[in-house]
Amino acid sequence: MANLFDLSGKVALVTGDNGGIGLGMAKGLAAAGASIAIGARDSKKADAAIGELKAQGARAAFIALDVRTEKSCHDAVRAAAERFGRLDILVNNAGTTVRKQPEKLSAEEWHLVVETNLSGAFYCCQAAYPHFVRGGGGKIINIGSMMSVFGAAYAAPYAASKGAIVQLTKSLAIAWAKDNIQVNAILPGWIDTDLTRGARQQVEGLNERVLARTPAQRWGDPRDFAGVAAFLAGAGSDFITGATIAVDGGYSSQA
Ligand code: NDP
Repeated sequence: MANLFDLSGKVALVTGDNGGIGLGMAKGLAAAGASIAIGARDSKKADAAIGELKAQGARAAFIALDVRTEKSCHDAVRAAAERFGRLDILVNNAGTTVRKQPEKLSAEEWHLVVETNLSGAFYCCQAAYPHFVRGGGGKIINIGSMMSVFGAAYAAPYAASKGAIVQLTKSLAIAWAKDNIQVNAILPGWIDTDLTRGARQQVEGLNERVLARTPAQRWGDPRDFAGVAAFLAGAGSDFITGATIAVDGGYSSQA
């Protein structure tokens, strides 16, 4: 039987993987043999990430990308495919939030979050589609959140975008199943990254609430995403599409 977790010869574009959960997933894909295109804005952070991936023996390159503009998404997908000769895997991980009560949010803040978390993912999927069709198939992994399921007073645009990404996942899965493209979503619980470090400081009691509510009794680590990314990018998940997988230490199973 073929190794269902072997990604040798495959090329992945992971957005926002110059750190955090994205880099955790990129390391999992690289460990399985994939070449990694790092699509992000901050090239200094990307240099450090490339160093870590290369130390693992992987091929990795930085591709400048701002997911908020359609052109940048199309340019980055094209550049990744040109750099490595093909494209097989797209991980839509870039994300941001603005922590405010809804009545205090400006239109700019709303658009910043929704365009980064939702529209950018859609633009990248559209751009990747012809490459996947040319290659005979492809894998898309979208990153949702516990706020794909729950709401939060301080995160209206974030929760709206993360709820919508699940519905986008299902719609693309249905539309592109005929092309042998599988589209799935990962819903992280509370993970220790730059994004949540600020929240831990700003939101009183958050650290204690997360620990109390998470059956695994710890915050997640970017390394917790390496295995699920490799699984969803490989042949072992070829009949899984439109699914959402919580990687949350049991958080969303708790009443
Ligand atoms: P990080 O802040 O470490 O990573 C976010 C990444 O997104 C950065 O690398 C950043 O790259 C990139 N990014 C942001 N805006 C843009 C943009 N306009 N264009 C391109 N890249 C951009 O946070 P996490 O690792 O925690 O977050 C990764 C994903 O996981 C996000 O989608 C987040 O919503 C999701 N998530 C995280 C959870 C957590 O607990 N940490 C929980 C649930 C979901 P750059 O530095 O170049 O701006």
